[in-house]
Amino acid sequence: MIHRTYQEQLQTWDKQYLWHPFTQMQDYVKETPLIIEEGTGLFLKDVDGKEYIDGISSMWCNIHGHRKKEIDDAIKRQIDRIAHTTLLGPSNIPAIELAKRLVEIAPQGLTKAFYSDNGSTANEVALKMAFQYWQHKGLKNKTQFVALQYGYHGDTIGTMSVGGIDIYHKVFQPLYFKTHFAPAPYCYRCPVGKQPGDCTLACLEELENILRGNSDRIAAVIMEPLVQGAGGMITHPSGYLSGARALCKKYKALLILDEVLTGFGRTGKMFACKHEDVVPDIMATSKGINGGYMPLAATLATEEIYHAFLGKYAELKTFFHGHTYTGNPLGCAAALASLELFDKEQILENLEPKINYLRANLKRFELLKHVGEVRQCGLIAAIELVEDKITKAPYPWEKRVGIQVCLEARKQGLLIRPLGHIIVIMPPLCIGGQELDRLLDIIYESVKTVTQATTLPLFS
Ligand code: PLP
Repeated sequence: MIHRTYQEQLQTWDKQYLWHPFTQMQDYVKETPLIIEEGTGLFLKDVDGKEYIDGISSMWCNIHGHRKKEIDDAIKRQIDRIAHTTLLGPSNIPAIELAKRLVEIAPQGLTKAFYSDNGSTANEVALKMAFQYWQHKGLKNKTQFVALQYGYHGDTIGTMSVGGIDIYHKVFQPLYFKTHFAPAPYCYRCPVGKQPGDCTLACLEELENILRGNSDRIAAVIMEPLVQGAGGMITHPSGYLSGARALCKKYKALLILDEVLTGFGRTGKMFACKHEDVVPDIMATSKGINGGYMPLAATLATEEIYHAFLGKYAELKTFFHGHTYTGNPLGCAAALASLELFDKEQILENLEPKINYLRANLKRFELLKHVGEVRQCGLIAAIELVEDKITKAPYPWEKRVGIQVCLEARKQGLLIRPLGHIIVIMPPLCIGGQELDRLLDIIYESVKTVTQATTLPLFS
C-alpha cells in the first residue's frame, strides 16, 4: 500500500493528465478515482488496500487470474533474452512457436497467423486481407462488407465502418466505407418479431437478401460468433452461425469471425465457432490470447487466402500491413505459457461444471422486477435491466442505471463495468464456486438496491 499523500497526488495527476477511454471525463473528475495497485488471482487491490473481485477479467481478457506464476516466469525468462525485435524481416522464437500453436488449436483449415497488437488491429487486418484477396482474384468490385447491427469490432476507422452501435459509431459516419447491416439475432428484442418458441432463424433471411442482391460487390461478412459483446452481450440462437457460414459459401463472400472476445475458452470451447463446427476464412483473436497480460493479437487465415497474396515481387501482391510491435516476443512468450496452462490445468475440461453452476445461479435474477432478460454463453453472462418488464421499455440513458449498479457493487468489493443498462458478468476462467457465489450475491443485491430504490437520480 502506498503512502496517503502520494495516493492523493496520484488522484490529482490522474484527473489532471489522463484522458480515460470510453469515459465522460466531466463526470470522472468529480469522483474519487479508483487506482489499482496490484492483483493476485481473481482479486485486484487498490491504493487503499481494498480488494475487489475482477468481475470483468480486466476488460474481458484475463483468463488464469493475475500474477499467474507460469506466465510471470515466461515473461521474465523472455526478458532475459530480448524484449522486442521486429518481425519486419527477421523472425523471433516465441512468435514462431506461437504461430504453430495457434494453428494447432484453431479450427482446422486456418493455417497462417498474422500478428498485430489488439482486437481492433486484428479485425482491421482481417478486413484488409479480405479486400485485397478479391483484388488479387480479379474480382475487383468485391469491395463492400456485411456486418451485424449491434456489432463491435474495434475503434479504428475500418473496424468502426463495420460497427453497428449507434452511440459509438454514428458520429464518425462520413469517414466510413460501404457496409450493409443485417439484423442482429437479438432474440429478446427479435428483429423479425418472433418469439423464442417459433424462431425459425428468419433473421438469416435478411442476411441472405443482402448477400443475394449484392454478391458481386460483397468481399466478406464479419461477425462476432455466438456472442455480440459490446452490443450488449447478445447471445445468438443455435444454428445462426452455421447458417451464416452456409450463406457466405452460397454467395461467394468470405466469412470473417471476430473471436477477440469469445476466443480462448470464454464460451466453453477454445473458440466459439467450434460450437457449430464452423471454419471461417479469416479469424481475428486478441484479448485472452496471452491470458490478458499484454497487447497481442493474431489474425488467422486459410491457405486459400494466403496463397492469393503470393507472386513475383513486382506484382505487388504483398500484404502491405504491419505494426511496430507485431509479434512482440514478450507477448508471444506469455501466450505460449497461457496456452500451456490450458493443457496443464485442463481449463476447458473443467469449465463445464462452472458454466452449469453459473446458469443455475442466474435463475433468481429473472424474478427481479427490473430484469428483462438474463443471457449466458459459457462463462459470459449479461443481465438486461428494463424500466418496464412487460413492455421491455429500457431505462432512459441519462438514468445511468448500469453505472449505478456497478458503483454499488464496487462498494461491496466487486469490479464490473456495464454496457448501458446491461450488467456484464465475465470473470476469469479460473474463478471458483465460492467466488462465483460471492460475485453473484453482490450483483443481485446491487441490482435490487438500485432498481428498487423509489427514485433514481438523473444525470445530465
Ligand atoms: N472485437 C470484439 C468482439 C471486442 O469485444 C473488442 C473489444 O472489446 C474488439 C474487437 C476491440 O479490441 P481492442 O479493444 O483490443 O482494440
